[in-house]
Amino acid sequence: MSENWDALIRGENCPVCDLISSGKSEDDHGIAVADLSFSRLFLAKNQYVQGYCVLMCHRHVIEPYELTADERTKYFNDLALVGQGLEKAFMADKLNYNILGNLIPHLHTHILPRYFTDDAPNRPIDPGMKGREVYLSPEGYQERIELIRSHLGNSL
Ligand SMILES: [Zn+2]
Repeated sequence: MSENWDALIRGENCPVCDLISSGKSEDDHGIAVADLSFSRLFLAKNQYVQGYCVLMCHRHVIEPYELTADERTKYFNDLALVGQGLEKAFMADKLNYNILGNLIPHLHTHILPRYFTDDAPNRPIDPGMKGREVYLSPEGYQERIELIRSHLGNSL
């Protein structure tokens, strides 16, 4: 693992860099929703948590402190815009922002709308747990993407 990890840290064969630079609108895990000032937003294909999205940073850095002040402002402004949009679009009680990167060390944030009535009240929720896969029809994804876009307003 460590050899592969070191390569990923350097950005070699980084799947997020590939996704961003290729301009592909979809990979195994998500579908592009919007291009923002320093990031691209994807709707997670696993919609166990409705509205679950991932915001991918344009540049390959591992930690937020590696961004310049200007890049950091842009990235976290994008995150704030997306959070506000998702909260409205899905009428969430609260949002969770997970910056993990233990698998893919390219700065990205998992954004999960949360509800008092969901499966893990007062705790983090892990949509990646076995048995929690919820996949939509192509129309279902498109509907959700349009809903999110309509709540991102003029940030697109
Ligand atoms: Zn990368």
